[in-house]
Amino acid sequence: MNLWPEVSPALLLIPLDRHISRIARNLELTSRGSDDWKTAEEVSASLARFCPEDPIKYDFSLCHLGIAGECTHGKDQELCRRCLLASACLAAKPGRN
Ligand code: SF4
Repeated sequence: MNLWPEVSPALLLIPLDRHISRIARNLELTSRGSDDWKTAEEVSASLARFCPEDPIKYDFSLCHLGIAGECTHGKDQELCRRCLLASACLAAKPGRN
């Protein structure tokens, strides 16, 4: 259901909470160190490479990795070994944590 059909999903920015900012850095969706508007723009642009029509559709999946306890940002390498994102994630690389 689209509550605001007059707004294109392609124009939305990622809600940059703590979970998203940490996983975005691990997945190299941003090179920025601060959690600000520019970082939200950069992460959104990176996600648009995968789906330009609706880049923010990945928000729920990425955010809930952390919320559900399935991602500890590399502290628990056993979780990383089971993670489908491991091949693209800096936190899963040996010697990073
Ligand atoms: S590989 Fe590890 S740190 Fe990276 S997203 Fe998966 S669980 Fe999180």
